[in-house]
Amino acid sequence: MSGGERDGGNGDGDDGRAGDEARTDDAYECPNCGERFGLERAVRSRTTGGLDPDAWQTLNCPACGSRVKTVFVGDE
Ligand SMILES: [Zn+2]
Repeated sequence: MSGGERDGGNGDGDDGRAGDEARTDDAYECPNCGERFGLERAVRSRTTGGLDPDAWQTLNCPACGSRVKTVFVGDE
């Protein structure tokens, strides 16, 4: 047999990031007014970059309307 067997190294990546709740109410922070809000409060709109509107949506600040983040929603 050949001696160059390689296993690729890390097997199961044990990332150890438990406890980081994704369902917080303030997942996003508006860079304009500082409002913190979660997905449920975000005002959603289409992206401006020509991305697929079924897969990508822009989250806007519920307080001032500024665009905060573009998120992938294709799994919804
Ligand atoms: Zn804002």
